[in-house]
Amino acid sequence: MQVPFLDLPAQFNSIRDEVTLEIMGVLEKSNFILGEPVAKFEKAFAAYSECSHGVGVASGLEAIKLILRGLEIGPGDEVITAANTFIATTLAISAVGATPVLVDCDPVTYNIAVNQLEAAITPRTRAIMPVHLYGQPADMDPLLDVARRHHLHIVEDASQAHGAKYRGRRVGSFGIASAFSLYPGKNLGAYGDAGVIATNDAALAETIAVLRNYGSRVKYYHSMLGENSRLDTIHAAVLNVKLRHLDGWNAARRRAAALYTKLLSPVPQVATPATPDFAEPVYHLYVVRVPQREKLMEHLRARGIGTIIHYPVPLHLQEAYAGAGWKRGDFPISERYADEILSLPMFPEIKEEQIQWVVGSIREFFA
Ligand SMILES: *Cc1c(COP(=O)(O)O)cnc(C)c1O
Repeated sequence: MQVPFLDLPAQFNSIRDEVTLEIMGVLEKSNFILGEPVAKFEKAFAAYSECSHGVGVASGLEAIKLILRGLEIGPGDEVITAANTFIATTLAISAVGATPVLVDCDPVTYNIAVNQLEAAITPRTRAIMPVHLYGQPADMDPLLDVARRHHLHIVEDASQAHGAKYRGRRVGSFGIASAFSLYPGKNLGAYGDAGVIATNDAALAETIAVLRNYGSRVKYYHSMLGENSRLDTIHAAVLNVKLRHLDGWNAARRRAAALYTKLLSPVPQVATPATPDFAEPVYHLYVVRVPQREKLMEHLRARGIGTIIHYPVPLHLQEAYAGAGWKRGDFPISERYADEILSLPMFPEIKEEQIQWVVGSIREFFA
């Protein structure tokens, strides 16, 4: 049996007719830049995320950058985030000229360790950027409390958590603004690079919409030093179709995760994800921790099973940040987990037999 890590063709096959029709509609109108499907998606995605405004942009990285630019965060400012996120989170901070300040992850939730936040705050801190990693909501109440007491913005990196809920409310609706990647492999993914910002701040949404389009409100009149960072119409057309399926797909991911957790519970070597009672996760990834990880990966590969490590090197040890002054030992949980974590195959269309094959193969390895 083959169990790919991710099966995007299976998803395409399930929406082939709907999505082809929408793409053809764009081709026929040839309204490729900021066509009507873009505004339609922005509105629908904002409503889905329990926000009043959405702005479509070129990628998740661009979404974070444009939020920071919109908040006028730049050189001399610091933004706090987690050491174990994908590098786009900190690259966006670095790209606007601000300084990323890292905090270790919580050993149970893998999200930013809220109890270590205050020690990272300095007079230069402007924002805290929680990442709802793997589709697990960060613990927002204590985060909001720290932010309020220190007059800091919260910018959510919700790139792995479209539709996840924290205490019954969608992630992405808690901070001043939130960034969502719409990279093809994300829970909601375009057919190329794309991203979207959700916010309840009308003025910020307007600023970002202008910044993403050459700093222009009226064509060829430029009020800001903007960028070309628009969501393509063709992607928006695809996303309008996919958004209708997102809740169903997320529910399928939760069912798959529940089955993995149940079948893996008798295997003492495997640490499965915890679900705090505040969380309704969406399992962008199903991440376990195991001993002898590299050997297990090899064993699974030989049985047709795809696995990936998210992520093998914490940010403070990445070569790109060699000059930033961090060293091994700074964030011990992130470092230890980077050597133990393994993402098992997870996608809405995964079959029960495929999950059984994965778990059976893991049990065989540890037997
Ligand atoms: C995917 C991702 C991004 C970046 O998104 P792109 O669309 O690839 O630019 C940012 N943050 C996190 C946590 C991500 O997983």
